[in-house]
Amino acid sequence: MELSKRQKRIVEIVKEDGPITGEKIAGRLNLTRATLRPDLAILTMAGFLDARPRVGYFFTGKTGTELLTKEIRKYLVKDFQSVPIVIKEDDSVYEAISTMFLEDVGTLFIINEERHLTGVVSRKDLLRASIGNHDLNDVPVHIIMTRMPNVEVCQKEDLLIEAAKKLINKEIDGLPVVKKSNDGYEVVGRITKTTITQVFVELVSSKGL
Ligand code: ADP
Repeated sequence: MELSKRQKRIVEIVKEDGPITGEKIAGRLNLTRATLRPDLAILTMAGFLDARPRVGYFFTGKTGTELLTKEIRKYLVKDFQSVPIVIKEDDSVYEAISTMFLEDVGTLFIINEERHLTGVVSRKDLLRASIGNHDLNDVPVHIIMTRMPNVEVCQKEDLLIEAAKKLINKEIDGLPVVKKSNDGYEVVGRITKTTITQVFVELVSSKGL
């Protein structure tokens, strides 16, 4: 978060002389208490300053990066997940390619008859399967998918940053959000690199960074 010149000055004053009342800060800056109110509110909300009744403002000692980290650690998978696109194990590679185009996604999750997650296919899996002379209508998607237990998953209550780390560490584009059901996983959402990019942009816009 980029502080204004005045906000930086306020932080300096509170750092040196806190706890200090709003009245006194205003006096030091030759401003009225009313003029200063929005700046004090922003600095308190953003976590740079804290206020105690009848004591005044004091410096929390947190840097911008610490505050940003704290903010990101509040984000959960369930707050950002999007709708998963699933197909059946016995659907053909041709159908998988059509679904990918129609639904405009890069990763499809594969389910069995019990609607449990059994695998995942990416664009490159489908490209690879398309090289050669076989009829793509005759190849079931379960032949080419990355299958359980090798599928990386996440759950609704996981921290978004943990899901992002899985995407980076495993060099993959998407993760199914799953819910345990009987002896398998039901697919309830998806987290992709696009999700993380959106959050990044949103964070910057909403925090005025
Ligand atoms: P692409 O290959 O289209 O760039 P990915 O990087 O996501 O897309 O996929 C790379 C490989 O990882 C593919 O073989 C794919 O099946 C596999 N893969 C994709 N998502 C997952 C996942 N969540 N867990 C395990 N493997 C995955």
